[in-house]
Amino acid sequence: MESDSEFIVVGGGVAGLSVAIELLDHGHDLIVVDPDPGGGTSYVAAGMLAPASEVNYSEVLMGKLLIEAAQYWDDFVKVLESYTSLDCGYERRATLLSATEHGDFDELMRLQSFHKELGIESHLMGRSEVLDLEPTLSPKVIGGLYTPKDYQVDNRVVLGRMIEIVEGHARIVRARVKRVVRTAQGRYQLRLDNLDVVEGERVVLCNPMISPEEVLSGLLDEDLARAVATRPVRGEIIRLRDTQKIGPSVCVRSIRHGRWNYIVPRTSGEVVVGATQEEVPLMNNSLPKAGGVFDLLYDAIYSVPSLREMEIVELSSGYRPGTYDNYPNVGELLPNLYIHSGHYRHGFLLAPYTASLLVQAIGRRSNANFSVRLQRFTEILDPYRRLQDGR
Ligand SMILES: Cc1cc2nc3c(=O)[nH]c(=O)nc-3n(C[C@H](O)[C@H](O)[C@H](O)COP(=O)(O)OP(=O)(O)OC[C@H]3O[C@@H](n4cnc5c(N)ncnc54)[C@H](O)[C@@H]3O)c2cc1C
Repeated sequence: MESDSEFIVVGGGVAGLSVAIELLDHGHDLIVVDPDPGGGTSYVAAGMLAPASEVNYSEVLMGKLLIEAAQYWDDFVKVLESYTSLDCGYERRATLLSATEHGDFDELMRLQSFHKELGIESHLMGRSEVLDLEPTLSPKVIGGLYTPKDYQVDNRVVLGRMIEIVEGHARIVRARVKRVVRTAQGRYQLRLDNLDVVEGERVVLCNPMISPEEVLSGLLDEDLARAVATRPVRGEIIRLRDTQKIGPSVCVRSIRHGRWNYIVPRTSGEVVVGATQEEVPLMNNSLPKAGGVFDLLYDAIYSVPSLREMEIVELSSGYRPGTYDNYPNVGELLPNLYIHSGHYRHGFLLAPYTASLLVQAIGRRSNANFSVRLQRFTEILDPYRRLQDGR
């Protein structure tokens, strides 16, 4: 069977669904192709939208991107709510970074001075202030950093809404793309693993690709293929159930001997504890490892002892799609062949915003004739990357 559409979006994780929603909202016709939409890393994630807690020193431009992306979430939720009256899982719950050792509190002080440089609101707190704000923290706590605008979204709820919206206004083809072929007319044909073919004027690749050659064989030159390859960064994560309502009321991120841990309470009673981080060569096993689970539970219970009484609902792990410089791949690879992937540790925080930047850029260029250059692929995020590279 053959299907035809203006846009074909490959991959229905948060990256692909964000593009699909932005395209719908701009009146475009589209098909999403994914064998298991919403079932990849996006299903595993914690859903923190946390620029203040996640920013790294010296990454000023990445910091700005994270802040703008977090601010965009209010707009994005309004777009979702224009399609559905159901809850989208967005929780405006503040975050508290806590320390139990002096060296770790020094780290929070350094982080706060970086927040000042970036214009991020955060407040250092002493022990009694921290315990007043979050009494479930261990009495061993010595201080904290309050970040009132680091929010969260229930990743599974919002993925469900996005899939419903896309299925209600466009099509999702449940199959895997085996190969992308460019026709003599400059259109794209996607050969699927169920032997169907979908054809379209424009394709947006939102599937993380360790080896882009597998799907794009021969379409990209070597440099470009290398530049857009992603590296898998494995992470274990735990879901608990707080039936007795004994958990924290804010999102807690604790640091101990330099190692970070987070506890994300949700209105539903779910409490998410995460996450380990390990660079691996292949995505060949998604079963969580005992050592990772042990470290997570040890650190989380040390920080909030009442977690000891909660029920374990799920242990899982996933692969963050990292790029060579940790910035997402957002741009045009070949005429009308776009990429939107590689959001690494920040897929939920970043993808709605980067999808909106991409769809706006596609709209601005729709009548332009571009030559194929590697530089163009970085253009959309160039304002964020330029200083980083010292250019
Ligand atoms: C433990 C953990 C915790 C995290 N916590 C957070 C967090 O708190 N906040 C945050 O912002 N980010 C977080 N992340 C990162 C975030 O989960 C990722 O950045 C994001 O999910 C990546 O989304 P994606 O759509 O690119 O990938 P995925 O969700 O993996 O989606 C890719 C989709 O592409 C499909 N696909 C693959 N190949 C093909 C093909 N050939 N044809 C068709 N479809 C294909 C797959 O079936 C899949 O559905 C976390 C990640 C991990 C592992």
